[in-house]
Amino acid sequence: MPVTPHAHDISAPIARWQRELAAAIRSPEALCAALDLDPTIAAAARAATSSFPLLVPRGFLARMRKGDPRDPLLLQVLPQPQEQETVAGFSADPLDEATALAAPSLVHKYAGRCLLLLTGGCAINCRYCFRREFPYAASGVTTTGTEAGLAAIAADPSLHEVILSGGDPLLVVDDRLRSIVDQLATIPHIRRLRIHSRLPIVLPERVTDDLVNLLAVTRLTVTIVVHANHAHELDATVAEALGRLRQTGAILLNQAVLLAGVNDCVPVLAALSERLVDLGVVPYYLHLLDRVRGTAHFEVDEETARRLHEALRGQLPGYAVPRLAREVPGAPAKLWVG
Ligand SMILES: *Cc1c(COP(=O)(O)O)cnc(C)c1O
Ligand code: SF4
Repeated sequence: MPVTPHAHDISAPIARWQRELAAAIRSPEALCAALDLDPTIAAAARAATSSFPLLVPRGFLARMRKGDPRDPLLLQVLPQPQEQETVAGFSADPLDEATALAAPSLVHKYAGRCLLLLTGGCAINCRYCFRREFPYAASGVTTTGTEAGLAAIAADPSLHEVILSGGDPLLVVDDRLRSIVDQLATIPHIRRLRIHSRLPIVLPERVTDDLVNLLAVTRLTVTIVVHANHAHELDATVAEALGRLRQTGAILLNQAVLLAGVNDCVPVLAALSERLVDLGVVPYYLHLLDRVRGTAHFEVDEETARRLHEALRGQLPGYAVPRLAREVPGAPAKLWVG
């Protein structure tokens, strides 16, 4: 006998990307088993998962090398015992974002543009995440908070660009995203929409036909900033997703974080830039790590960063060299280093 779906199943069918996310790896033991890694690595990872859980989509896992505990994709998601250590200069909110809230869910620090935080959720938990401890609920990152944020944007004619952020803003389902984009498009002073998302990289199934269509038809000029740190992240599934995003006419940019052990060497950074450009994505920022508690083992010092960046400039065309940037609380823009 056929199963009769419930009414809510008809109105909101589970999309393929949501099924992929539901099947993501959520424990160090499962991660290590899938990669043929020594179980002692999982045991060492356990302690750090209580404050920030492990989360890795299986498609991202498939791009890691089996049996290699130093794999650059693995290191981005594997909890480390060092995360529990207290290190001077590393704090819960080093960017002072909690005090930059202009309205619920709205971070307005720089002229003409603001961040609208749509969700605290992500499809992957990057251990270096600068919003690891962000107080999403207390910052109004809720459905009603979004309405208040949209109202504040409509009331501030100095704003011309809205940046959807999170968490990962593409974790929001297409119907809600369309409604938010449509509301933004009715505000006369808003000309540009920017989406900062790692989902096209870590969960490329998220680039649905509905998403592509809604970005293609809006009157707003769309920029999509994806977030890849290593060329190994950019496999054929990601290439296809990025190709679909390009067809919308959106400008595609990448931001990376400079991470010790992951991408702090010139050939790796050059390969990332070359692969991005081949896929039609312009390298935008190479960020120095934000000094969030639990991430000190990823830090690359500024002097080393400058040297790497200078060497990169000697190897690549100018448009393939990302700006080396650092965020300084209270500054009118991100600081360009070097
Ligand atoms: C990074 C950031 C932006 C965007 O800065 P750009 O230099 O335009 O990329 C805007 N607002 C906030 C709060 C940011 O952190
Ligand atoms: S995708 Fe971005 S917001 Fe999400 S965990 Fe990674 S760094 Fe943080």
